[in-house]
Amino acid sequence: MQPVMIPVPSPTRQPERWQTLWRDAVRDPVELLRLLGLDALAARLSVPATAQFPLRVPRGFVARMRRGDPHDPLLRQVLPLDDEDRLVPGFTLDAVGDAAAKGGTGVIHKYEGRALLIATGSCAIHCRYCFRRHFPYAEETAAAAGWASALDALRRDPTLHEVILSGGDPLSLSTAKLAELTGALRSLPQVTRLRIHTRLPVVLPERIDGEFLDWIGALPWPVVVVLHANHAKEIDAGVRAACAALRARGVHLLNQAVLLRGVNDSADALVELSEALFTAGVLPYYLHLLDRVQGTAHFEVPEAEALALRAALHARLPGFLLPRLAREQPGQPGKTLY
Ligand SMILES: *Cc1c(COP(=O)(O)O)cnc(C)c1O
Ligand code: SF4
Repeated sequence: MQPVMIPVPSPTRQPERWQTLWRDAVRDPVELLRLLGLDALAARLSVPATAQFPLRVPRGFVARMRRGDPHDPLLRQVLPLDDEDRLVPGFTLDAVGDAAAKGGTGVIHKYEGRALLIATGSCAIHCRYCFRRHFPYAEETAAAAGWASALDALRRDPTLHEVILSGGDPLSLSTAKLAELTGALRSLPQVTRLRIHTRLPVVLPERIDGEFLDWIGALPWPVVVVLHANHAKEIDAGVRAACAALRARGVHLLNQAVLLRGVNDSADALVELSEALFTAGVLPYYLHLLDRVQGTAHFEVPEAEALALRAALHARLPGFLLPRLAREQPGQPGKTLY
């Protein structure tokens, strides 16, 4: 199963502009290559990989790619090439142990004090390296069950101070749906912080519209939004405007990136990413080592090389622009830090 559902506006309302842009995403790899003047690359597309996890990329994100460049770091994140068909030992279907942690409610509670809520399985973009490409979130999302079982699970645990909306991409839900959840969360006295993990402000910044800003600005808790950008070229004027609007509502902005071969595996690329984030008012949080997920081996940067990159960044960046190098390992009390 893969994140393929699209948000359905209620029948009485016109779709929001962002929802129209969402639906208009490029979904045909051949069309994507044509838009970029890269028709010759079509021979390297993978039919099975596309069937397993379809291409999806908003047109505004395509516009940030360089025409005629088969190595464009944004293109590489979304294009289903035949590299994905290689079976590599150690690259499995559930690399982070989520299947073992799921409770049937859309809530994953692995770390003390904070629980991750799989709000929805949908994403505006399909990232080829993502572990969720193999995870059956369509059956496991909290929104699908009307939030009720997720809220029950949270209510039962008075130690859960931080609720993390994740997915899929939680901002693929309508603002009304999000408001339904946060309305219910207000009745849980133990909740003192809300965190949202989302790639939407980066890949479809139009999502941060007036209705959304009104909702997020009125929440009763401090809010942290953890964005996901992997390369400085993802951060354009539209993204900076969305970030500025969020900051004006008091939202704390962080970024997590994944260290990816051919995307951001150089000190220059990572320095530029940190600088671009800072310009947008975002601080780097994690730089994740790749989850060893089937079909993603060609993205892996070995640990020794990652450590060398970290040392290079340390020498070039102020401490507050240095992301924590981390990996998700099953059974650990938190992310493994390097
Ligand atoms: C990554 C993760 C978190 C958040 O970890 P932080 O170190 O607080 O960012 C929480 N729950 C789960 C299941 C996670 O995978
Ligand atoms: S990285 Fe995020 S946005 Fe991309 S496919 Fe995975 S969950 Fe969706």
